[in-house]
Amino acid sequence: MLEGVLPKQADLHKFAAQGKEIEGQLPISKMSRLLLSLADDSGTVTYSLKFEFEQGRIPTVRGRLHANVQVTCQRCLKAKPQELDLEIALGVVRNNEQAQQLPRSLDPLMVASDETVVLLEVMEDELIISVPATNYHTETECESSVGFTSQDDDYIEEVPEEIDNPFKVLASLKSKRD
Ligand SMILES: [Zn+2]
Repeated sequence: MLEGVLPKQADLHKFAAQGKEIEGQLPISKMSRLLLSLADDSGTVTYSLKFEFEQGRIPTVRGRLHANVQVTCQRCLKAKPQELDLEIALGVVRNNEQAQQLPRSLDPLMVASDETVVLLEVMEDELIISVPATNYHTETECESSVGFTSQDDDYIEEVPEEIDNPFKVLASLKSKRD
């Protein structure tokens, strides 16, 4: 595929001046921080990025990221397929003041003064944000849906027992006194 075309360091000012467009694929396994949110390192990210100036002066990165990844079902702790599909629109800023002045259509991308970024990390940050915070199989897909239900019942049954216990102790004390 086009993997390897992605420049490691990108000068966003230069890219915007060139009106550069790049697209390709990257293995998910290259995004170690994203992997912390995933069940395994399978899958690839397909990206298409376009660089241009907003209002003639703010370097921007616009594009689309798409990936099919595996997240962890919080009920059965097994892998669950998850599609990540996001549009990105980032405007380069150097500080919070510039971030606040960005047009609403752009999210701030904070970069050092030379406006050079690692595009893989920029995409990784956007993908991390797009991973759902909670993940569950549907009831029919989940391997431990039945087990979970019975555990749930057990838990509900345990609560009144715990409440009962002090009374049982009191009752036995009382009967001893009587
Ligand atoms: Zn599950």
